[in-house]
Amino acid sequence: MVEGTEVVRLDPGHPDIAAVRRAAGVIRGGGLVAFPTETVYGLGADGLSAAAVERIFLAKGRPQDNPLILHVAAPEDAHRVALDVSACARRLMERFWPGPLTLVLPKRPEVPDVVSAGLPTVGVRMPDNIIALTLIAESGVPIAAPSANVSGRPSPTSADHVIADLAGKIEMVLDGGPTTVGVESTVLDTTSTPPGVLRPGGVTVEELRDVLGEVSVLSAESAARLEGPVPSPGMKYTHYAPKTPVVLVEGEPDQVAGRILREIQARHATGETAGVMCSCETEGLYRGQADVVRVAGSRRDLATVAAALFATLRLFDADGVDVVFAEGFDQAGLGFAIMNRLRRASGGRIIRAHMGTGVDPG
Ligand code: AMP
Ligand code: MG
Repeated sequence: MVEGTEVVRLDPGHPDIAAVRRAAGVIRGGGLVAFPTETVYGLGADGLSAAAVERIFLAKGRPQDNPLILHVAAPEDAHRVALDVSACARRLMERFWPGPLTLVLPKRPEVPDVVSAGLPTVGVRMPDNIIALTLIAESGVPIAAPSANVSGRPSPTSADHVIADLAGKIEMVLDGGPTTVGVESTVLDTTSTPPGVLRPGGVTVEELRDVLGEVSVLSAESAARLEGPVPSPGMKYTHYAPKTPVVLVEGEPDQVAGRILREIQARHATGETAGVMCSCETEGLYRGQADVVRVAGSRRDLATVAAALFATLRLFDADGVDVVFAEGFDQAGLGFAIMNRLRRASGGRIIRAHMGTGVDPG
């Protein structure tokens, strides 16, 4: 059992190597270390030790059928865990590594089944973060790391989020400040023809098509569905949800705002309070109407929305409103990953703004 969780603050650009070496020692000893990546904080363990990896599932309360991603410090290290790295996978590594792209590759038998949840494949990624890369290199093993949150909660984009969820359950947290991308990696199955996006993320489908030509994609609806067979097991679980219920409102931006304003009025009429998560472009429409207004970022730069999404969702829990209405975003580019997370955070509570009695946002 863990006595207490040690939090080590590091300079993201020049991390103290002695502190990272100590963390690497914890990993080699079978312990759990949370560390920053460019996407979200990861909860790391020795990826070649079944006993260490099992502790990740316990600490997070993660379902056993949801496989973990193995993190490597260099593209060559993919060969340590993958039986075969195809020409297509190599091209993707050259273009996107280090970065938010996980490649699903045929698994080597040395990788414990608990990592891949019994699948014959393994997800591999090289993160774009100096602390993460140093930790992996110093550990000398591929590091298995899902997001460092309690399963079902919004993913952690700061060390404080990790501490809120996992203090007392893990040995160490490396605090490297807030993460930059803010949504998880894109998971791409390179064993299928054409390669298929199993989870949208920080590398966009458009960027993948630039390199590969054809790429198959689950529709946003099926990627967000909560039951039934799914090629990437993690996609079937309700996820990213704050404690406050989230209702996602999709459609044209002006219709969305109008619809949310009407929904707020309806809630107020029954004595309920309502928050809104919106873009800076529409923020003014809700001031004085919603009980809490939180801006996720700008519609003109979806990277700002991705970066702030999970932290903003977590903040609503402290606000104590009865419901949060989240504005939908355009699905192009990073919007695909953002909408995937919002749909799942809503647990299926989705309103299409143009359905039912339309409203003039005026
Ligand atoms: P997390 O680490 O919490 O971001 O979750 C990892 C995601 O990658 C989940 O959606 C998994 O289902 C997916 N994943 C990891 N390994 C594989 C694999 N071998 N095949 C398909 N999906 C995978
Ligand atoms: Mg996760």
